[in-house]
Amino acid sequence: MFLHLNFILCELLHKLADVIYPPQCIGCRSAVANVSTLCGHCWTSLKFIERPYCERMGTPFSVDLGGLLLSPAAIADPPVFDRARSVLIYDGLGRALVHRFKYGDRHDLALAMARMMTQAGRELIEDADIIIPVPLHWTRLLSRRFNQAALLASTLSTITGKPYNPDVLKRKKRTRPQYGLTRPERQTNLQGALAVDKTLYYKIEGKRILLIDDVMTTSSTANAAARALVKAKASHVDVLTFARVVDYV
Ligand SMILES: [Zn+2]
Repeated sequence: MFLHLNFILCELLHKLADVIYPPQCIGCRSAVANVSTLCGHCWTSLKFIERPYCERMGTPFSVDLGGLLLSPAAIADPPVFDRARSVLIYDGLGRALVHRFKYGDRHDLALAMARMMTQAGRELIEDADIIIPVPLHWTRLLSRRFNQAALLASTLSTITGKPYNPDVLKRKKRTRPQYGLTRPERQTNLQGALAVDKTLYYKIEGKRILLIDDVMTTSSTANAAARALVKAKASHVDVLTFARVVDYV
C-alpha cells in the first residue's frame, strides 16, 4: 500500500508518545505493545465481516451457499452504488468503539478504525480516484463539532495517499436519523438531501468515488449519496464503512 509521508511522521510521533504514555488497548485499556491497537481478547470479540459475503452489498451470508456471489436483496433491488464493504458488524465492542469515537470525543480512535478499513476495503481503495465522506448538515456539524465520516475519510487518505475531497458532496437539508423509519419514510427523508453543486461536477465526472461513513444502518443514505454522485457523472461509486447493521444478528 502507498504510504504517505504524513503517515510516517504520524507513526514516529506515536512511537515517541509510547515512551511517555504506555499504550493501552482501545477496547479495554489493558497494556498493549503499540498505540491505537486492540489486545488479543478484544480483537477476537469483534465480529469481522469476511467472505463469503454479497459481492455487491457486502452483507455476510448467514450460511456459506457455495459460489453464490450476490444476495437475493442485491438481485431484487440493486443498489445505486457499485460495491459496499464494512470492517465489522455493528454490535458489541464494534458498536462501543463507534459510540466512543462519535459521541465520546475519542477522535484518537480514527487511526485504528481507518487502519482496519484499509484491510476490509483494500480492493475498493485500490480502484478509487477520490475519497469522499458522507456529509453532515451544517447545523448538525455545529452541535457535534466534527463529522466522524470526514475524520475517517481524511485519515484513510493520509494512510493510502489517495486524494480526499470533503467539499463536493453536500447535505442540503437536515434529515431525521434513518434507523426506525420505514422504507418509504427513509426515501422521503432523504429526497434531495444530498447533492453535488453543478459547478463542481467537473471534479467528479469520470471518477471512481470511494464514499466513507462510520456505520451503514440501511443502504438508504449510501444510495442517496451515490445517486447524487452518479448525477454528477461519477463513473463508479463504492462505499466503505467501519461498521454495518446486519439484521439477522
Ligand atoms: Zn482489550
